[in-house]
Amino acid sequence: MSFFKVNEKCNGCLACVQNCPASALNYMDKGNNRKICHNLSLCARCGNCWRICPQAAIEFNQLLQGGWNEVAEMALVHCMVCGEPVYTAGIGKTLSEKLNREVEALCPEHKKSFPLSTWKRIAIGRGLQTGNGK
Ligand code: SF4
Ligand code: SF4
Repeated sequence: MSFFKVNEKCNGCLACVQNCPASALNYMDKGNNRKICHNLSLCARCGNCWRICPQAAIEFNQLLQGGWNEVAEMALVHCMVCGEPVYTAGIGKTLSEKLNREVEALCPEHKKSFPLSTWKRIAIGRGLQTGNGK
């Protein structure tokens, strides 16, 4: 995924390269071609290049507007009493492995207020698997 894009309107004037305060823009002339390069790790997100480009060729809006990118998606485990999401399936697996037993899918409220026997009955009544499978 690239946050910094230069579209086909770029004519290679180098105004962006010359006016980048962080030296995050550079160029390479090789053979018959000029390449414009951007280094995201150096970029201060100041938007100077975007403002200064005479061709409106820099598409930097996502970074300047601070939009959210989804970087991961995973399955949720819900509280077996109220259905509130409690943790991801991955966390459940990690905890179970560390504790050497299956952890119970209970939100903090129902972990406190329901004794072991009650939530087991609820789980069995709903046809759900209890924490230790009994
Ligand atoms: S200032 Fe704009 S037109 Fe000039 S090189 Fe940079 S992106 Fe291309
Ligand atoms: S946003 Fe600022 S620091 Fe980043 S490339 Fe453009 S001018 Fe350079």
